[in-house]
Amino acid sequence: MICIPITALNTGAALQDITQAEQVADILELRIDYLADPDLEKLLTARKKPVIITNRKNDEGGKFPGTEAERLQFLEEAVRLGAEHIDLEWSCGPQVLQHFKDLTRGTKTRIISSWHNFQETPKNLGELYTSMKSAGADIIKIVTHAKSINDNLKIFDLICQAQENDQQIIALCMGPQGEISRVLALLLGAYLTFGSLQKGKESAPGQIEAQVLRDVYRVCELKDADFRLYGLVGNPVNQSQGIRIHNRAFQHMELDDLYANFLVEDVASFMRGFKGYICGLSVTMPHKQKIMDYLPQIDPMARRIGAVNTVVKKKGTLVGYNTDVMGAIQAIEAITPIMDKNVVILGAGGVARAIAYGVVNRGGKLTILNRTFSRAQSLARELFCQAGELEEIQNIEADLLINCTSIGMAPQTEEMPVPESVLRPGMVVFDTVYHPAQTRLLKEAKAKGCRTITGVDMFVNQAAAQFVLWTGLKAPIEAMRSALNL
Ligand code: NAP
Repeated sequence: MICIPITALNTGAALQDITQAEQVADILELRIDYLADPDLEKLLTARKKPVIITNRKNDEGGKFPGTEAERLQFLEEAVRLGAEHIDLEWSCGPQVLQHFKDLTRGTKTRIISSWHNFQETPKNLGELYTSMKSAGADIIKIVTHAKSINDNLKIFDLICQAQENDQQIIALCMGPQGEISRVLALLLGAYLTFGSLQKGKESAPGQIEAQVLRDVYRVCELKDADFRLYGLVGNPVNQSQGIRIHNRAFQHMELDDLYANFLVEDVASFMRGFKGYICGLSVTMPHKQKIMDYLPQIDPMARRIGAVNTVVKKKGTLVGYNTDVMGAIQAIEAITPIMDKNVVILGAGGVARAIAYGVVNRGGKLTILNRTFSRAQSLARELFCQAGELEEIQNIEADLLINCTSIGMAPQTEEMPVPESVLRPGMVVFDTVYHPAQTRLLKEAKAKGCRTITGVDMFVNQAAAQFVLWTGLKAPIEAMRSALNL
């Protein structure tokens, strides 16, 4: 189930949020401690979906202004009014838990015994779980803060332990590094996962929008399925379109597979902890080089480029590839052959490097221009081609101009890497920047009669090449393209 917390500040606003949330949620959590004028009867009469009534203690992140006795009275009233669940903090102690067990006996209300740690994910969660289980709450809730991506593994272990004991559990990690637990918890067998009503209405850090959990990650559709896990390793990862494009491809091909974001600081420990879980990865900055140290096999082209953006598990062995180069070359060759063309690449970073290898491999006559001349020079030396500073574009007759700098990327959408005067009719202009899809460079180029290639074309192609490597199936390119939200 996806549970949406209602965090409105008064009963009237909460009633509106309930109506909106019920379109997406399976269950609602009514946060009584957020409400200035809590009217439990009104709220419980209005809702149509099952609820959890939470009146969180202040020392566990709550906002209730009254006394402890007043706080607990709301939970007693919730039982009387027929709420399906009440959330009772484990820290209330055994007597309070026993009081509510007596109160709920014979009613339809179930007790969620909850434990929160906002600082870390401690090692001894198994012991905590065992104590909570023996105390006999209906549902155990353990929520921690992820300081590293590997903290999620402790939560996955807990969920598996609870599954073995037929114990219903809600377990997840808060914080940006814990996002993966919010996606996977449900698929591993947790009772529910929390999703926000919309951005800005999160009740805890790292909460993903409920609509995204349902429509992009398909956590309810994939439940109990034997899903295969893929994902993006990088830092940051939250701007990536990968989750949209790959999950749409899996959905389109009716595959029980899932693609998630892994916010990774330390590649070594991520690979140690997660390599058993994953079937494939996309890799982005700053890990495209570092990941190579953890791959027993690397495709020769990726080795020559010196960067891996795709990992595939083949018969248990992790193999590295670079699909940026395939993605870019396919996008170019859909418009023009490369052989013997004068090609100018602007930039000498990671993407420039991959495309430069592809262009030389296809027989293009390449010049690399970069703000920092020494970087252009060193890449040009490797590839036996020409190098220069960005300004030298004025002196070169390019057939194909490729922007591999970040100039023109949102929010600096009015910037261009070259003056308009260098754009000539007949020239092919390719901008690898894909946010926005139509950069100023491409708009000016079109106006001058150039043929253009967008960064979106490259992005979709490189993702499609990943899909083929992971699944062995033809990629549903149009479905993937339509999933982009740029
Ligand atoms: P990178 O390794 O950091 O390289 C950035 C390049 O841009 C460097 O050559 C840098 O020059 C140059 N640059 C940055 N700011 C500049 C400025 N203000 N003026 C002049 N040059 C500037 O980054 P990357 O991974 O290669 O990514 C580059 C761009 O490619 C990204 O912005 C992204 O939009 C695009 N990209 C597209 C795809 C796709 O699939 N379409 C995939 C990945 C990336 P210096 O060497 O002088 O610093």
